Amino acid sequence: MSVDSSKQPADALPERSPLIRLDRVTKRFGENTVLDHLDFSVDAGRHVTLIGPSGSGKTTILRLLMTLTKPDEGTITVGGEQLFPASEKRRREVRKKIGMVFQQFNLFPNMTVLRNVTEAPVTVLGLSRDEAEARARELLDMVGLADKCDARPSRLSGGQQQRVAIARALAMRPQVLLLDEVTSALDPELVAGVLDVLRDIARSTDITMLCVTHEMNFARDISDQVLMFDSGRIIESGTPEKIFADPEHERTREFLGAVL
Ligand code: ADP
Ligand code: MG
Repeated sequence: MSVDSSKQPADALPERSPLIRLDRVTKRFGENTVLDHLDFSVDAGRHVTLIGPSGSGKTTILRLLMTLTKPDEGTITVGGEQLFPASEKRRREVRKKIGMVFQQFNLFPNMTVLRNVTEAPVTVLGLSRDEAEARARELLDMVGLADKCDARPSRLSGGQQQRVAIARALAMRPQVLLLDEVTSALDPELVAGVLDVLRDIARSTDITMLCVTHEMNFARDISDQVLMFDSGRIIESGTPEKIFADPEHERTREFLGAVL
């Protein structure tokens, strides 16, 4: 098959379609306007990191995508399908494309590790228990926990619990993985193991990743693009090389100076 390159402008990017799109999204909590007509999009397969000071709206964006909270105005689409506004039924369907890992692992404490990973695929996706278990064992192996299938979460270290949470999110075969400061609650010596798993996922899958982190080396390694937030606005965006080495904005310089 031949490709007629003359039909494309010389500066055309390889073909990508926005998988996530926010259009003029406003979110208020009472008098506090957290996001003010925010626009941005993430192309399929990209890894985008959100940085910025505490309270700048990063978690709110991920919670909106996870449908844990609703925008006051604007539209959010995922894979070309509307998440907001949409009927509850529609929203539940579209939301299946998205998985999230939280700072606090949020595992089901009364279930074994294996059950934590099989529960949603069985109840939400309708997989047979055998199918779900086979997939869960593969994922737990991938995150280095093949020997912990029968343990309760409380018997695991924080790093191990977080790796279960990552396996649990992947078990739903999401197109998008949202990561909200997933190593912030961990003892320092457990951070690297979790980041290694995420690097591996970034390298070996085509999952679109939207990541909030203060681990700047990790962000530099995995990100195609870094968005700097301040007061619910993107004040600067670019490649990690550009943002970390030569930021345009004083606010970005200040922020990076404080966290690096
Ligand atoms: P970040 O993740 O960047 O630290 P957040 O998205 O958590 O910021 O918060 C942005 C702003 O929204 C903050 O001012 C925070 O106090 C406010 N906020 C977040 N969630 C709620 C909530 N459930 N109720 C009231 N205010 C909230
Ligand atoms: Mg946050």
